[in-house]
Amino acid sequence: MEKRFVYADAAATVPTLPEALLEYEKTAREIWGNPSSQYSVGRAARRRLDECRGRMAELLGANPRRVFFTSGGTEADNWAVVSGARFMKERFGKNKIAVSEVEHPAVINAARALEREGYALEYLPVTPDGAVDIERAAKIIDGEVGIVSVMYANNEIGTIQPIGTLEKMAHSVGAYFMTDAVQAVGSVKLSFRDTGADMMTLSGHKFGAPRGIGALILSDGCEIEPFILGGEQERGMRAGTENLPAAAAMTRALELSLENFDDTERVAGLRNDIAEYIINEIPSSHINGSMKNRICGNLSVSFDGVEGESLMLLLDSRGICVSTGSACSSGAAEPSHVITALGYGRERARGTIRISLPRGATANDAEYIKVCLSECVSRLREITHI
Ligand code: PLP
Repeated sequence: MEKRFVYADAAATVPTLPEALLEYEKTAREIWGNPSSQYSVGRAARRRLDECRGRMAELLGANPRRVFFTSGGTEADNWAVVSGARFMKERFGKNKIAVSEVEHPAVINAARALEREGYALEYLPVTPDGAVDIERAAKIIDGEVGIVSVMYANNEIGTIQPIGTLEKMAHSVGAYFMTDAVQAVGSVKLSFRDTGADMMTLSGHKFGAPRGIGALILSDGCEIEPFILGGEQERGMRAGTENLPAAAAMTRALELSLENFDDTERVAGLRNDIAEYIINEIPSSHINGSMKNRICGNLSVSFDGVEGESLMLLLDSRGICVSTGSACSSGAAEPSHVITALGYGRERARGTIRISLPRGATANDAEYIKVCLSECVSRLREITHI
């Protein structure tokens, strides 16, 4: 088969959409004032920023006054977890934080930093499907818990979490409920209001905006402290001159990804086709996570007797980009905390790759992935058995 280039790591990032790039460039060129300046070019920038905030809020079912732009998903996650936990401790003496075992490091490491400050950190276990185990969570989420953080969809195995149930559990004990929707926004049609969450985070570069822009969305009653201190930007909640061109580009990218939403079903079909092929044609292979409650392009798969890292590199030599574990932690020696949380051993975690098809992936891309996977897995198994 002729060599092609196939990008199948959409969970890491996607190329910036041309329309978003144009919006960035146009805004940077034409509306370059500082939104805090009182004269006309500053007022124009403020107006455009508020327009973007309003449109983002409209698209995501949120109150525009409660949409705060950040530098991306990590900052928004850190802010929500740290400031949410601190508020609950100061106001109500609640000292416990509960996060799912499969959270992104942006949440887990923020929670660990709080643990070092003296907070009690509890992990909510997941079932082999990757969803939070509700019965076990009910025993952990008690009156001491100030904040529960469970992601909307997982970045490694794509599992969509039972957010509605978890939100009710958190609220029944007076805790905040925070959801990291970085992987969901653009892949799932969601309304912040309908999630019932107090806080939700997102990151523009996962759905076609440039890097360096994201948002934290708060419910009307959610009180937290600012995280970055300085000027009065973002209603005094997030200091620093606003990145207006990136906010405009993110707004355009979100509009486009929701306009072309039907494509998600087609991409899920291609993903299912690859999964079926792997299970039927490649011996000793295993799909990780639920095939039902899963974001559209994601497929996490493990091959016995194969190193995920070697497979990723061999696929790269054939022009296919996939990742092992999550891009943010690949390169780390430890196997993925997500795969091990499902109850599988380190060997299975080591033999795992994540395929995440972007919107616009084609049937030819899927065919090429199938053929190359089959050849590369066989090749690596031959080498290891010599
Ligand atoms: N949360 C999740 C679920 C992610 O997948 C990522 C990035 O991979 C982040 C947070 C961090 O987002 P950012 O890259 O914008 O900092």
